[in-house]
Amino acid sequence: MKIIHVCCAPDYLSSLIKRPDLLGNIFYFYNPNVFPQEEYERRLESFEKACKKSGAAFILATYDPTEFNPGLHCLGEEEGGARCSYCIELRLKKTAELCLEVGADSFTSTLLASPRKSLSIIDRAGKMVEDATGVVYEGGNLRCDRSSLSPFLNGIYVQDYCGCKSSLEGVRLHRVEREKRDLERFRRDYGSLIALWQYRGRAIRREQIPIVEEERLKDFLSLLKPSAILVSEQSFFDGKSWLKTGSYNCRILREYYCDEDDSKES
Ligand code: SF4
Repeated sequence: MKIIHVCCAPDYLSSLIKRPDLLGNIFYFYNPNVFPQEEYERRLESFEKACKKSGAAFILATYDPTEFNPGLHCLGEEEGGARCSYCIELRLKKTAELCLEVGADSFTSTLLASPRKSLSIIDRAGKMVEDATGVVYEGGNLRCDRSSLSPFLNGIYVQDYCGCKSSLEGVRLHRVEREKRDLERFRRDYGSLIALWQYRGRAIRREQIPIVEEERLKDFLSLLKPSAILVSEQSFFDGKSWLKTGSYNCRILREYYCDEDDSKES
């Protein structure tokens, strides 16, 4: 029997798509690195939901964020550096210890499904833990393509940062810088429409945007980044649900989908 450390529900699902045979083992949710607690609870809830749906056996560790203490040598480290090696090793070590407790002979992790993690860092940490505990580490690549994963993500929380406080701050900083850059260009190229900037992150109606040409509309949306563009006609945008604008995909919603708040915006 194997114990499979689980970092989050999307990576759990990806691992099962890639390796359905893993289902006969025990999944172990241990992530003291996740900050803040509410975020941990959201990830845990989704994991439990996904696990129960797939009928998997699982064990939940008690959340104790003080167990994640990367130390001074990790301060200021970029994602992927010493802090991450420490974090991954910590979680794998606890998984191997659980193997010894319950008599499992090997361990692996759904971290191997994460498209943003280095497989070699995970393998290095896994081998170190194997040498220290004598429990066999099983590496591999558990990533699957997005299109096969998407149908399983309905109702599953998909986080937008890795987990620890530093990664959260990194994402926030990146967001602030991106917003500043977008606003500068919006002012320069669409200065007469600056009143529409208030729709950044919110739904906007198609008829509020006085741009006809599709490529220019895409450029405009790639800067504004609204949560959705609301259209009234069924045939508009050929019935598509997304408008790809390059780095940003804008959701297209037919009017009858919009909620009360959206409908008050016009
Ligand atoms: S960025 Fe992710 S892997 Fe790295 S320390 Fe933070 S939570 Fe751990």
